[in-house]
Amino acid sequence: MLLNDLTAKANKYQSLISAAMQRVLASGWFVLGPEVARFEQDFAAYLGLDHCAGLANGTDAIELALKAMGVGPGDAVATVANAGMYTTTAVLASGAEPYFMDVDQKSMAATLEQVRLAVEHGVKVVVVTHLYGLIIPQIASIADFCAQHGVPLLEDCAQIHGARLDGKAAGSFGDAACFSFYPTKNLGALGDGGVVATNNADLAARVKLLRQYGWTSKYRAEVPGARNSRLDELQAAILSALLPELDAANARRREVAARLSRGIAHPEVVTPPEGGPEYVAHLYVVRCPRREALRQHLRANGIASEVHYPIADHRQPLFGERFAHVRLATTERLVDEILTLPCYPEMSDAQADQVIAVVNNWSI
Ligand SMILES: *Cc1c(COP(=O)(O)O)cnc(C)c1O
Repeated sequence: MLLNDLTAKANKYQSLISAAMQRVLASGWFVLGPEVARFEQDFAAYLGLDHCAGLANGTDAIELALKAMGVGPGDAVATVANAGMYTTTAVLASGAEPYFMDVDQKSMAATLEQVRLAVEHGVKVVVVTHLYGLIIPQIASIADFCAQHGVPLLEDCAQIHGARLDGKAAGSFGDAACFSFYPTKNLGALGDGGVVATNNADLAARVKLLRQYGWTSKYRAEVPGARNSRLDELQAAILSALLPELDAANARRREVAARLSRGIAHPEVVTPPEGGPEYVAHLYVVRCPRREALRQHLRANGIASEVHYPIADHRQPLFGERFAHVRLATTERLVDEILTLPCYPEMSDAQADQVIAVVNNWSI
C-alpha cells in the first residue's frame, strides 16, 4: 500500500482536469494570464482574504513574502526546525538568519511561549508552520501577541488548505500566508505552484513585483531582490477546477484519520487525536519509540511509511557547526519517534483497516 496514491486522484478528477487543460490549450496563454487571475480571486475568497499572488511554488511564496515584509541580510526570522527545511531554505534565500523555535509535543508546532522568546531575541518576522494538517492551537493568541509587538506573522499553510478554527480559515490569522500546491498537498496541482495570500494590498502588490523581475511595467525593472517565480495557466486552471472539491476531500481525509486513530491500539504507538474542522489530516503521523522496527514490520507487510522529517533543520549537514549550540529538546526527541502512515482521500475503509491490523499485530 502506498503512502499516497496520486494515480487514484488523477483518475477521480480526470474529466474536471481535462476540461481545464483543454481550456488553456485553446486559449494560447500559458503563464500569468486570466486563469492565474481567476484562481487568485477564487482562492482568496475561499480563505476569506482580499488578495492572493500566484507563484511558482510554496518555498518561493515564503521567500518572496519575507522579502516583501522587508526581510534581508542582517535580519533574523523565527521558524520551527521540524518542518522539512522549507522555511529555513526561504529564510536563507532572503539573506536572513533563521532563529529556531522549539515545538509543542502534541501539536508539534510553535507555541506562544516560543514566539515570545523569538520576539525578545529581536526577530524581524515570525513564521509559524501548521504541521500535518492541524491548525496551531494557540494561533489566535500568537497572532495577537505579534500584532501587539509590531512583528509581522507569516503562516506556512502548505499542509493546511481548508482547515478552520472558530470559523476562520488557516492563513487568515497572521499578516500573510503561504500555500504550496505541490501534487501531494491537500489542494494539489499536477506540477508546482504556490501563493501568498493576505489582506494587505501593498504586500500583495510587492509580491507581484518580486515574482516577475521587479518590473513595474514591461521591461522596466525597479524593485530589488526580484526574480522569476510565476504560476502557469495550466496549474491555475487545474487548481480552480479542484478547489470546489477540497472540502469534501478534506472531510474524507479526516474520516480516514479518525478510523485509524480509533482502530490502532498498541502500547508503543501514540496516534493523533480525532479532529474537527481545525484538522485536515494532511499527513497521518504517529509516534513510536522503536520507530525503525515498526517501519520494518510495515514494510514486511507491504505497507509504505515515511518520516516527515528525519533531520531537524538546525542539524542539516549544510550548516556544519553553525547551529551546534542550539538545543531544541522536543524537536530533537520527536525526530526519532515520528512515523507517517498511509492516509489520503482515495483510501478505502478496507485499506485503513489493513493498516490498523498490521500495526496492532506488531509484536513487542
Ligand atoms: C510542501 C511544503 C512547503 C514547500 O512547498 P513547495 O511547493 O514544495 O516549495 C513549505 N512548507 C511546508 C510545511 C510544506 O509541507
